[in-house]
Amino acid sequence: MKRVLTGDTPTGKLHLGHYVGTLENRIKLQNEYEMFILFADTHALTTLSSTPKMIAEYTKEVLLDNLSVGLDPKSVTFFVESAIPEIYELAAIFSMYVSHNRALRNPTIKDEIKSKGLGDQYSLGFINYPIFQAADILCVKGQVVPVGRDQEAHLEQTREIARELNKLTNSDIFPEPQALAGRVGKLIGTDGNPKMGKSLNNTIYLSDSKDEVEKRVMNMYTDPKRIHPSDPGTVEGNPVFIYLDTFAAEKDKRQIEEYKNKYKKGEVGDVEVKKFLTGILNEFLEPIRQRRAEYEKKPDLLQSILDKGNVRVREDAARTLNELKQKMGLDL
Ligand code: ATP
Ligand code: MG
Repeated sequence: MKRVLTGDTPTGKLHLGHYVGTLENRIKLQNEYEMFILFADTHALTTLSSTPKMIAEYTKEVLLDNLSVGLDPKSVTFFVESAIPEIYELAAIFSMYVSHNRALRNPTIKDEIKSKGLGDQYSLGFINYPIFQAADILCVKGQVVPVGRDQEAHLEQTREIARELNKLTNSDIFPEPQALAGRVGKLIGTDGNPKMGKSLNNTIYLSDSKDEVEKRVMNMYTDPKRIHPSDPGTVEGNPVFIYLDTFAAEKDKRQIEEYKNKYKKGEVGDVEVKKFLTGILNEFLEPIRQRRAEYEKKPDLLQSILDKGNVRVREDAARTLNELKQKMGLDL
């Protein structure tokens, strides 16, 4: 069976962008592939270095998010990065095969420095992020990686590392993992930022209550040029219509087309369309909320899902690491 590895950085709860970027593909693939889902808690230190204790809280939330969308802990192995020390040893070896310049030449890293306003204050670990991620993926020899579009540059780096070490050891120890993009590669934020990001405060969370969804939708960015409901509005690039197209059920498609036409002609106000969107999103989120509430009642089950996954992956990661060290002669 082919192996799927993907994961989340526990820097906050998961949102609609994660759903279309990666969770949806996880749900589709969970029965066809052997699936591993990692919570990259050490990676989370890139943004939460001053409040590391929050990371464990977020890890639990993100596990709940994954379970609440319908991932089945009986077929998926969930694990925590920091419970697998072999990952760090692999990452240390990998970092010797990536030039300093190459590490800096990563377009996603450059984007994040800008969008997160890091200036020149980012850590060495932040630049090392994709190399670490290569170790996350390759420790279980993941072949398919369901991720949003921002991850493509990191996957390219993973493939380069795999190729380099296969060449060095004259073997095929590592696969060259392929990214599997979601239905929407990058979902726009509620503020019109091209990416809904949990570090960007422009999200609608999968765990938001009905009232929170309403509040977030009512505050959404729409068309800044439109002042009165009678002004012709722009539909393209408008997050309200993007979310309608993305999350509405088939039965609502006709109504959406009608709203788009009216909006363009200045025949409907933002508030009416936003109320409609609130209903659509709440309908989409309701079954997710219900499943989450069931799992929230079982903290012991949640802990045992992680414990079991950690034990399972440690065995795999140790095997991978030993294989590499042996082939490199680092096994005195
Ligand atoms: P951070 O800003 O802390 O990196 P994040 O919101 O990017 O947080 P991650 O945990 O890094 O979240 O991403 C988990 C997965 O979700 C990745 O595959 C990523 O590509 C995908 N993803 C994140 N945001 C979006 C989005 N807005 N649209 C589509 N996919 C997304
Ligand atoms: Mg990210």
